[in-house]
Formats: sequence, C-alpha cells, structure tokens
Amino acid sequence: MGEKVIIIGAGLCGTLLALRLAQRGYTVTVYEKRPDMRKNTISAGRSINLALSDRGLRGLALAGAEEDVLPLTIPMYGRMLHPQVGEETMVKYSGRDGEWINSVSRGGLNMVLLDKAEATGKVHLHFGKGCDEVDLETGSVTLRDEATGSTFTDRAEVVFGTDGANSAIRNAMLRESARYRFDFSIKYLPTAYKELEIPPAEGGGFRLEKNALHIWPRDGFMMIALPNLDGSFTVTLFLPHTGEVSFAQLTDDILIRSFFEQYFPSACAHMPDLISDFHSNPTSSLGTVKCYPWQVNGKFLLMGDAAHAVVPFYGQGMNASFEDVLVLDGLIDKYAGDWSGILEEYQQIRKQDADAIADLAVENELEMRSATADPVFLLKRRIELKMEQTYRDYFSKYSMVTFREDLPYSYAMKRGRAQDEILMKYAAGINSMAEFDEQEVLRLIHTLDG
Ligand SMILES: Cc1cc2nc3c(=O)[nH]c(=O)nc-3n(C[C@H](O)[C@H](O)[C@H](O)COP(=O)(O)OP(=O)(O)OC[C@H]3O[C@@H](n4cnc5c(N)ncnc54)[C@H](O)[C@@H]3O)c2cc1C
Repeated sequence: MGEKVIIIGAGLCGTLLALRLAQRGYTVTVYEKRPDMRKNTISAGRSINLALSDRGLRGLALAGAEEDVLPLTIPMYGRMLHPQVGEETMVKYSGRDGEWINSVSRGGLNMVLLDKAEATGKVHLHFGKGCDEVDLETGSVTLRDEATGSTFTDRAEVVFGTDGANSAIRNAMLRESARYRFDFSIKYLPTAYKELEIPPAEGGGFRLEKNALHIWPRDGFMMIALPNLDGSFTVTLFLPHTGEVSFAQLTDDILIRSFFEQYFPSACAHMPDLISDFHSNPTSSLGTVKCYPWQVNGKFLLMGDAAHAVVPFYGQGMNASFEDVLVLDGLIDKYAGDWSGILEEYQQIRKQDADAIADLAVENELEMRSATADPVFLLKRRIELKMEQTYRDYFSKYSMVTFREDLPYSYAMKRGRAQDEILMKYAAGINSMAEFDEQEVLRLIHTLDG
C-alpha cells in the first residue's frame, strides 16, 4: 500500500489532485463537506459553467482525464459583444486557428473527476465530512459528520487543503499567523454577481450563437452568458452592490424588469424566468484571496482557491488550480517523494504566478465591461488578431494567459502589459485598420526584446 495522504475538499482541484496522486501510487483519503454530487444532481438545480482553457486542459491531460472531459465541452471561439443598441459583433479570442476556450459544466467536470479518482481503487472518498480543526504540528485533522454532528480525527504524512475560497485549513493557519508568519488578505470588489438563465429554444437548440462567450458590456457593469450542452446559457450579471445602478436599487419586480429591458433588451427577450431566477438565486460577493506561506511544517499545503481565490474575469481560477496540480506533480520526482522539499519549492515557484493571475483577473473586469465597448480597444484587438494571424510568434496578453500553458502567468502578465501599452497607444493614433502598418507594429513590439 502506498503512503497515505489526506485531501480536504473534493471540488475541482481536490479531485484532480486525488486522481493524480493515486496514479503516483499514493493512497488518498478525501474528505468533502457536501454530499456526493453524483447522487444529488437533481437537487443541485442550476447548471453553472466555467471557461476551461489550455492550462486546465494540460492539468487534465496529465491525469489522463482530458478525453473524458472534452465531450462535456462547447468551444467558444470568441466574445460575442452585444451593444445596448445595434448589431452584435464577434471578436475572436485568437488570430490563430485551433485556439479557443471551452464552456464546461462545473458539476459535470467535477463528477467525471470523482469517478476517475474512485476508479483507481486508491482514492477513498468520504462525503458529508467537513474539516473543522487541524493540528498543524502533527498533521492531524478533525472532521465533523455533517449529518450527525459527531467528530473524529485522521492523520497522514501530508494534508492538502483544497477546500476552496473559505478554506478551513487556511483559517487554521490564520489562527496561528504569528507563529507561522502567515500573511493573509482578502480584497473584495465593489461588484457582486448573480447567476441567471437563458433556457433552450422551444423545440430545442440555442437561442443565441452557440460557440461564443456572450458579453453585454455596459460601462460600470455587464452581463455574460456561456452555453450549456442542453441548449441553455448560464448568464451572470456583474453589477455593483450599491450605488446608482446596482443590486441595491433592484428592489421590486418592476424595477428589475425595467433594468433588464433598458440595458439588456437582446438578452431579456430570451429570459422567460428572469424575475423568479432573480429572486431565487443569491447575490454573491467577489474577492481576491492572497496568503503566504501556503505550506506549514512540510505537512499542510493549500492549493487551488484555498491558496489563491481570484475574481472570475479572466476565466482562470479553475485553470490555475489544475495547473497547481501539474506544478506539484513535477516536483514529486525531484524530491523523491520528500514532502517537506516538495511543498517548500512548490510554494516558492508558484506564488508569483498565482499573484499574477489574481491581478490580471481584477484588471480584466474593466476590459470586459468597458473596454469591449471602446473603439480604440476594439481596434487594438483587431490589430492583435491580425498580428497573430501573420506572425506565429506573436501572442497577445490574452493568448499568453489562455493558450500558452508553457508560459508562467507572471511572464504573460509582464510581457502582455508592455505589449498592451504599445498597442493601445498605436491604436489611438490611427483611425482604422486601413492605416495599420504591420511592420511598424512589429518594430514597436520588438523594442521589448532588446
Ligand atoms: C462566478 C464564478 C465564475 C467562475 N468562472 C470561472 C471560469 O470561467 N474559469 C475558471 O477557470 N474558473 C472560474 N471560476 C473559478 C473556479 O470556480 C475556482 O477557481 C475553482 O472552483 C477552484 O477549485 P477548488 O477545488 O480550489 O475550489 P472549489 O471548487 O470551491 O472546491 C472546494 C471544495 O471544498 C469543499 N469544502 C469547503 N470547506 C470544506 C471543509 N471545511 N471540509 C471539507 N470540504 C470542504 C467544498 O464543498 C468544495 O467541494 C469562477 C468562479 C466564480 C465564483
């Protein structure tokens, strides 16, 4: 029997980690607070989807799960921008063929990973068992049976905290922050979000373009929609908590309806259950969690959202969490399974990349809700797409983050920001693509290599 490890949290990161560690020969005990979603899918109700891109796919491929997940995905080739008035426009994600992002059901993906992990025979899944307390010195964890309230303890050489944005393992580290010099911050955005739905068309099919991520940018707020396999779209409204145009103002059905009719007429027409969805679905906050160290005593390690919850505007939280598993996996051989070496190097190499995607995600909110309606930005995007079509080695910031899984997020951020600055200035100085001088743009970009 392989060495035992414990994973707290069977979400997206925890299940991929469990699968991979089992493939590595470890015996994996997983404790998950919620019931088994494979037996409770109907009560789960709403379908929530996520954008899965190359970093996430690479993590899945490492564990041989990519082929199982791809049938659950819908390719999204670009952003379909819906102005308040006028025609919608499709802006492709990449100028190159073969580069797109994928809409995938969160639950569907999680269930595939649970099944695959369980099928190894080395992963023991315990549902309805929430972790309350941990002993950071000894590596023991205290679990509570959510049904009976009874508690028990378990112990392993190493415990992974993949228990999400409100991690109990992280809270235990925070309680002993002075001892472990544990830094922690959570920075909330003024923006909140609510999930809504565009159902399938009557008789089946999609009411909007299927292969796109739809955006209704409204300067200060926005709505997005991602397709589901059943023909529906999961819609997310991002709107400030308070202020002139905000959730706080949407206090009755008439106000809610007139808000949607005013700002999102093209979507509203496809949302027959808008009012009931609006009332039954929660309004949730968005925040960035940063903390460090991620490991304590070579016995506990935070991964995924527990270590670095990011706001969703780059569609990278899950992708980064899957990349976490890949990075950790790469260190197991290097340290011949010695957890203290693995955990220490893991946090050292990974922290700057987690910080980078956290910062990029905050910045991208502005790009999505405002810049996508700005003519200079749209011209800059057209220039970038043309550059990507023409030059194999040119990658926009978005492409580096989303399609270049071989580049660290920190590199993509630095290089991408510098390119953006050059291109925004250039786009502001011309009137249309007719004035675009490819060689001049290339020269400007190459100044960054010098
Ligand atoms: C609105 C929104 C949209 C998003 N869109 C995207 C996207 O398009 N693309 C993308 O890549 N990412 C996206 N994300 C981010 C993505 O959801 C997360 O990054 C991802 O789920 C992180 O996986 P995780 O396993 O770390 O955490 P989670 O998936 O949250 O899993 C944590 C698990 O731990 C369990 N748990 C919690 N506490 C305990 C405890 N005390 N004991 C035991 N178990 C516990 C939970 O029940 C859960 O199952 C989005 C996030 C939000 C909020």
